[in-house]
Amino acid sequence: MIANEQKRFAQKSFWLNSYGHYEANPPLTANIKADVCILGGGFTGLSCAYEFKKINPNATVAVLESKVIGYGASGRNGGFSMKLFGLEPEVTVMRWGEQKTIEAHQYMMQAVKHVQQLVEEHDFDSDYQHPGMLRVAYSDRQLQRLGSSYELFQKLGIDSDISWRAKEKLADEFNTDKFLAGIYESETGLLNPAKQVRELKRICQELGVQIYETTPAIDIQEARTITIATPKGRVTSDKLVIATNGYSHTLSGVKLKNQQLPIWTYQIITEPLTSAQWQAVGWQRRQAFEDNRHLVHYFRPTVDGRITMGGGRIDVAYGSNMDKDSNNSAWQHCEEHLKWLYPQLQDIKIAYRWGGPTSVNLDMTPEIGYLNSNKIIYSCGCIGHGVSLTHLNGKLIAQLLSEQSSDLTDFWIVNRKAIRLPGDIISWCSAKVLSQGLALADKFDERHL
Ligand SMILES: Cc1cc2nc3c(=O)[nH]c(=O)nc-3n(C[C@H](O)[C@H](O)[C@H](O)COP(=O)(O)OP(=O)(O)OC[C@H]3O[C@@H](n4cnc5c(N)ncnc54)[C@H](O)[C@@H]3O)c2cc1C
Repeated sequence: MIANEQKRFAQKSFWLNSYGHYEANPPLTANIKADVCILGGGFTGLSCAYEFKKINPNATVAVLESKVIGYGASGRNGGFSMKLFGLEPEVTVMRWGEQKTIEAHQYMMQAVKHVQQLVEEHDFDSDYQHPGMLRVAYSDRQLQRLGSSYELFQKLGIDSDISWRAKEKLADEFNTDKFLAGIYESETGLLNPAKQVRELKRICQELGVQIYETTPAIDIQEARTITIATPKGRVTSDKLVIATNGYSHTLSGVKLKNQQLPIWTYQIITEPLTSAQWQAVGWQRRQAFEDNRHLVHYFRPTVDGRITMGGGRIDVAYGSNMDKDSNNSAWQHCEEHLKWLYPQLQDIKIAYRWGGPTSVNLDMTPEIGYLNSNKIIYSCGCIGHGVSLTHLNGKLIAQLLSEQSSDLTDFWIVNRKAIRLPGDIISWCSAKVLSQGLALADKFDERHL
């Protein structure tokens, strides 16, 4: 790969940029046959490739990644391996009812465990830690919503790993009086996403998965077999997995255009804090935390003593345009919010700023489905909470491909009939109006702060 291209891909996040030298695999330059072809070299695609090869050691599996492994959300995220399913449990209950919300919670508990086990079993060098996470409220209205969520978790019996944190305890721990209360969830891990996704690449290759980078699928045709065209070669496969998440609407030859919409979230990271700065902010147990706004902010420390945070603003692109990775006003908002929360860090420098697309669908619920026949499986709709989810989804899809039936394949997101998005203009306008409405609602909730 030419050096400039490599540099451009690495600029997509702090994690990719600080990864060090990365040797991408060569692109596909021939016509090949595979039992299974997988599009997308993120958590979903690689986890699926690995699990499928484990079940079917003699099968030929080819992964095509249009840029480099981890180029998408998997190499750019906050690294919270968390239990949140869809947008909010309240939304899941409203749309799907209590029983399905409980099942989704159980799936996510399993997903977080699955990531942790994978890291331990294969000795991943991905800075994994398991400090848990807090959801905190700054305003009375956020506090009210936090209390209702807590009651909902208790009512549904999905509160085994959560506990309420009063203001005084949080003030002690975080040296701030801005947190009115919080919910602590012990089952949350933190990792370096670029390292994690490239460790997945390693274990895939150890099993013999063929991975082609800088190899975009430019057309897909389904007949007796499936033909995936790329710029310099073609894959003919019996089955295809579309693990392109927020990019899925851009694919040619399959009907995924109205299945999901990419919504961008933005993140910043500080220079490493000095020990005096860490002492000033408290944060003794180095958990992750999010606030309870409509457009949440998410915060976490890194193993080299930085703080990375993001959220508070989102953006949407029109049609198949994917050029929204930069957003000065979102980054400025993040920096202002960080310094509002921690005036102690007024002089801290921001070392890196980035953004990336998550996949959002109309009913704010992850989805795994079949296209046309049972030969093509797609996965989308991570709703910005997909680190653990997509690892386990990969395993689920591997079982579907292998025609196995299990607790995973019985999960109700499989082959659910998702409501399709309307056309580009209506989808774009609605997303814009919704994001501005949520920002206004947050402003109103926080008007006294
Ligand atoms: C800034 C940010 C912060 C986030 N923070 C968190 C968090 O802390 N916790 C959490 O749970 N979730 C978080 N998420 C969401 C999480 O990162 C995603 O849910 C998850 O990584 C999705 O993985 P994936 O493999 O399905 O998709 P992706 O990682 O997006 O992979 C899709 C891949 O498909 C490739 N591709 C696209 N088109 C083609 C084509 N035509 N041919 C071949 N390949 C193609 C892309 O290049 C990409 O690499 C965040 C997302 C972002 C953007």
